[in-house]
Amino acid sequence: MKHAVGEHSAPDLRSNTIEATRPNWMEIDLGALDHNFRLVQELVGPDVRIIPCVKSAAYGLGLVEISQRFVELGAQTIFCGSYEDAKILRHSGLEKTDLVIFGSTLPAGIPSLLELGLIPTVHHMEIAKAISAAAVKPTKIYIKVDSGRGRLGISILTAEEEILKIARMPNIFIAGVYTHQPFTDAEWAEFAQERTTLFCDLIDTLREKGLSIPVAQARSSSGVLLGIQDRCNAVAPGSILYGKNSLPENMVDFSKFRPLLSAIKTKVIHLTPDAADRTPGKALRYADVVTGATGVVPFARKDGHPIAAPGKSSFAIVKGIKAPVLSVSSEQAVLDLSAVPDPRIGDEVTILGTDGNLRITLSDLAQWQGSSMNDILLMMRGRMPLVFKN
Ligand SMILES: *Cc1c(COP(=O)(O)O)cnc(C)c1O
Repeated sequence: MKHAVGEHSAPDLRSNTIEATRPNWMEIDLGALDHNFRLVQELVGPDVRIIPCVKSAAYGLGLVEISQRFVELGAQTIFCGSYEDAKILRHSGLEKTDLVIFGSTLPAGIPSLLELGLIPTVHHMEIAKAISAAAVKPTKIYIKVDSGRGRLGISILTAEEEILKIARMPNIFIAGVYTHQPFTDAEWAEFAQERTTLFCDLIDTLREKGLSIPVAQARSSSGVLLGIQDRCNAVAPGSILYGKNSLPENMVDFSKFRPLLSAIKTKVIHLTPDAADRTPGKALRYADVVTGATGVVPFARKDGHPIAAPGKSSFAIVKGIKAPVLSVSSEQAVLDLSAVPDPRIGDEVTILGTDGNLRITLSDLAQWQGSSMNDILLMMRGRMPLVFKN
């Protein structure tokens, strides 16, 4: 086991090791990353390159370690969500990898990106002008086309003309053109297919007009999983590489992918063995609810772990036994340990993962909290040590 090094994760609050002072941690299975990467390569075929997306600090699962692993797996280009993340990667040994930033900067931020050799996304003419003005040598850029999602990008309606204009600007080298069509249901899948085809037509037209684009990319996780058809030579998945389904469970068979986040754990820091004692004048708050002990863990709202949504209940696992969550405050949660034999301070508690015959998945946590898997990862991001296994 290797512990995350805190030094290159400056914006994170996490420390290097599991601390007795707050014994919470996440276990990251890098072997699953290798496995999922190969699965995606099989799905898209050998001629399509994978540009992994590591936005939001690799979905909260370890920006540096995961990005380094992608490079070891053969990725030559990585999509970063922000300048901050890309800068951390640049300073952590990824000197030769093309680090493309999706777009998070004003035109005035462009010189900072170029100084570190990061590749900006042009999603607006103003960005292209700022790059051309700041660049002192031919500089790689990626162009984002808005093919209908109404977010970042040059409109597909004017893209042909604008991209040809950008190509003529001094010191600009268009290394890639991409679009994004995420979806989570059949209706949007149809829309994604239609717009992806339009995007591919655009790339063909540009080629006919003499502009060949080294990298064209339209599909992210959902498009890869569902087999959206394109004529691009790259894909940019995030979720599925981390073993997180981007589609509803009934829409695709996701069973071959393995979760990168294999466990979230904490430890019992306090026990109330007589929590069920109902002696008048002595009865404690949970006396009517539990039949045995309660235990406290330091894993709570502060750690990105809220109480279950109204109408839902949640549990943790202790010694292979269900331990219902009774309450969650800002710093601690109380667990019902009634069914756990001989509970002790220091007992390991599984918030997510497998213990004995019981298993809690990220999807379970999302359902209990009425949240999404992504939001849960983002809430927990940087709040506890990551322990990496190979
Ligand atoms: C997030 C993102 C991706 C990856 O999306 P997944 O659904 O996680 O595969 C790809 N491209 C862009 C522009 C994104 O913002």
